[in-house]
Amino acid sequence: MFKKILIANRGEIALRVQRACREMGIKAVMVYSEADRDAKYVRLADEAVCIGPAPSAQSYLNMPAIISAAEVTDAEAIHPGYGFLSENADFAERVEKSGFTFIGPTPESIRIMGDKVSAKQAMIRAGVPCVPGSEGALPDDPVVIKRTAKAVGYPVIIKAAGGGGGRGMRVVHTEAALLHAVQTTKAEAGAAFGNPEVYMEKFLQNPRHIEIQILADQHRNAVYLGERDCSMQRRHQKVIEEAPAPGIPRRLIEKIGERCAAACKKIGYRGAGTFEFLYENGEFYFIEMNTRVQVEHPVTEWITGVDIVRTQIAVAAGEKLPFTQRQIQLRGHAIECRVNAEDAYKFTPSPGRVTTWHMPGGPGVRVDSHVYANYFVPPNYDSMIGKIIVHGDTREQALARMRTALAETVIEGIQTNVPLHRELMVDASFVAGGTNIHYLEEWLSQRER
Ligand code: ADP
Repeated sequence: MFKKILIANRGEIALRVQRACREMGIKAVMVYSEADRDAKYVRLADEAVCIGPAPSAQSYLNMPAIISAAEVTDAEAIHPGYGFLSENADFAERVEKSGFTFIGPTPESIRIMGDKVSAKQAMIRAGVPCVPGSEGALPDDPVVIKRTAKAVGYPVIIKAAGGGGGRGMRVVHTEAALLHAVQTTKAEAGAAFGNPEVYMEKFLQNPRHIEIQILADQHRNAVYLGERDCSMQRRHQKVIEEAPAPGIPRRLIEKIGERCAAACKKIGYRGAGTFEFLYENGEFYFIEMNTRVQVEHPVTEWITGVDIVRTQIAVAAGEKLPFTQRQIQLRGHAIECRVNAEDAYKFTPSPGRVTTWHMPGGPGVRVDSHVYANYFVPPNYDSMIGKIIVHGDTREQALARMRTALAETVIEGIQTNVPLHRELMVDASFVAGGTNIHYLEEWLSQRER
């Protein structure tokens, strides 16, 4: 096992990985930007190295600075967390070329999955069902583009091969709007992702977002850890996640989960990964794979009893998965609310000094956050400042526990979306379960202050 790991991230996930290291008897090196210098998790680390000023381009995305931090501290492996460099194949490659272990899949796997066109093609070959659409990237020929759209059937969605974070997508309802939409998306994709390639998919009207968590080792073992329902989204950003997904027959989950695990074996995937699907009318359609730990991993940890971060580290060190598929048993129901530093109504970011930080506790409550009273939320990064996760024997109990937990939560000094979560936990449709990916946006458009 590794003796020392460098954690190339910040905030709650940096603390989460640090906790796993501590539990495993591994020393943790934190890198930090000048904006995070005084954070407690930085102070708590065995070693800490400043890698640059606040803007992430000069710090958390600064590959040479991170690699030299690993060199000067004699770390053996680098955990990238999520976001930042976690899905950057060039970074993974540079880490390995410099003699460190990248805690994640191979650069080749990251590269294939990072391009949505090649990811879809790999999945089709591996027998994973995909959204019907163009075969690969769209060509320039307008006749072919129109013919493809007709065959797929309107509405269609034009998506950037290199897209991410909910950007680089455009829905098209009629042939009249098609060519212009393709041109605009291409131009945007070229500017934003450095890759103008776009592809076409059928636009599903009312799907749910269901994803399968997998873990694979370097000995061709792969298991799936059930599913998560992440349909509660605003602007394609997840707000609430839960596991299991309400109302989906177990045999359908098992069937798709087995396909995902088989695909991992087939492509020689290692580490943690997530297959994201749209689910409509009893069918799963693959949209993309994330080759890293996800924000919402705790809900899966809670219903399976598997420590995903710990397992990531163990398999990166070459260990075999410590469980087989048959040993994965799901227990109860877990829900996660993402706590964002933002206005609960207008969603404008609300960085600044936290004056009161009172977090919930009691049976079935877990809080993953690096924040504390007097912490300063820097304006430079994502607005998510923590996660409240609950578990219950049933979904009803989990909901009741989340209501209690949110009622106990007091955050002052900055605005947060906790009031939004309180409202959603008593919303009749959410409580009934199975809301689709448009539900939250529609709900927000009718919300009364
Ligand atoms: P990103 O990498 O930017 O997150 P995804 O491919 O995962 O892009 O899509 C993000 C979201 O966009 C999905 O969760 C869904 O809400 C919507 N979406 C993507 N593809 C389709 C589609 N074919 N039909 C309907 N909605 C879609």
